[in-house]
Amino acid sequence: MFEGLSDRLGGVLDKLRKRGALKESDVKEAMREVRVALLEADVALPVVKTFISNATERAVGADVLRSVTPGQMVVKIVHDELKNMLGEGEEINLASTPPVPILMVGLQGSGKTTSSAKIALNLTKKRNKKVLLASLDIYRPAAQQQLKVLADDNGLGILPIVMGEKPVSIAKRAMDTGRKEGYDAVILDTAGRLHIDMELMSEVAQIRDAVNPVETLLVTDAMTGQDSVNVAKEFADKVGITGIVLTRVDGDARGGAALSMRQITGCPIKMIGIGEKIDEMEAFHPDRIANRILGMGDVVSLVEKAAENIKAEDAEKMAKKLRKGQFDLNDLLAQLKQLQKMGDLSGIMGMLPGMGALKKQMSQTKLDPKLLTHQEAIILSMTPKERENPALIKASRKKRIAAGCGLSVQDVNKLLKQYQTMSTMIKKMGKMGKKGLFGGMPK
Ligand code: GDP
Ligand code: MG
Repeated sequence: MFEGLSDRLGGVLDKLRKRGALKESDVKEAMREVRVALLEADVALPVVKTFISNATERAVGADVLRSVTPGQMVVKIVHDELKNMLGEGEEINLASTPPVPILMVGLQGSGKTTSSAKIALNLTKKRNKKVLLASLDIYRPAAQQQLKVLADDNGLGILPIVMGEKPVSIAKRAMDTGRKEGYDAVILDTAGRLHIDMELMSEVAQIRDAVNPVETLLVTDAMTGQDSVNVAKEFADKVGITGIVLTRVDGDARGGAALSMRQITGCPIKMIGIGEKIDEMEAFHPDRIANRILGMGDVVSLVEKAAENIKAEDAEKMAKKLRKGQFDLNDLLAQLKQLQKMGDLSGIMGMLPGMGALKKQMSQTKLDPKLLTHQEAIILSMTPKERENPALIKASRKKRIAAGCGLSVQDVNKLLKQYQTMSTMIKKMGKMGKKGLFGGMPK
């Protein structure tokens, strides 16, 4: 049985039930389970290694949200990193002079012929394109016929079969017909072998050189797991590909191949096959595959929900404080931490007076991370009392704080001045009444 990652991690991490930042030792232990889960999902070994190192880097020191367990938190981080490494799905590129040549490559039985017809139907129905199909598979008996039947049954354009014609010349004829008959795209379905061989590679390369495809789509079977990696590498090196079509994602496939393919070729996954029928093909959604790889149910949405709740909770608390004109150095510290995360400048930050200007200044000066770290260090060198009541901080305390964080008294003064400015503005705004700045905030 395929045990979901959340179950695995449950045992490892949930006994901790601690809040605060995730410790390196805990994360390392958790990642051992993640590693097993990925290998079980058929992710290729080198890709597993890269993944673990990326995810570990993200997880160590991350804050555990209040309403989730550390195990769930790790699952969320792992899931996010998976999504990140899977990349976004991309549409099939038709941005070129029609007819746009699309070359389908891959091993025999990977699903090239079926996918060719599926893509033709998809481009016809969803993107209103006129598509011509052509089979270049002269080796397998009835292969050309197979594509013709699929085309005829679904009202798709098909290049007439000429017995004895060689693949390169079929490809050229297909492009000619496409031009003459006003097709938007021509899909060239090539032959495959059971294994990669030089003959196959050089034939595909010849076809490529004859038509200059805008897309060369590698069709691979999600069920083949580790093997598919070598196939992908070989095609990427010898032929050059622009995208992946992953088939049989409907079966027991755990989706690991998606991650391996994406990482090893650097190409986006353009479509996934989810059944034998011609309309069983869909766009690639990284989050669905990530769920599949991790074999988990609702943990991620649960964690996401918790994160949202906490954000709302924090925003509300802050809004209340601001309405009352309270804003201490702890709040400033929290804001600095948010600023450090950058990219995530949304949320309550933008609502803080003074922060807007700071934000602007920082984006102009390309955000000096050192400055933020310094400011943070200064506040961290203060006692809790001082943070709550900055008025306490006189000359001798300033000296102590400066010594504590290894900066100068001047630096401490600068920070206090910045705090003063913000605090004054906030008090003023608070007096403007409920209809003022915070009138629109959640209560
Ligand atoms: P080719 O040799 O690469 O052209 O492969 P085919 O297109 O002939 O497909 C081989 C077999 O795989 C056929 O029986 C297809 O019906 C089946 N197949 C292709 N794509 C899918 C898919 O996404 N899901 C499932 N379940 N079967 C598929
Ligand atoms: Mg075929």
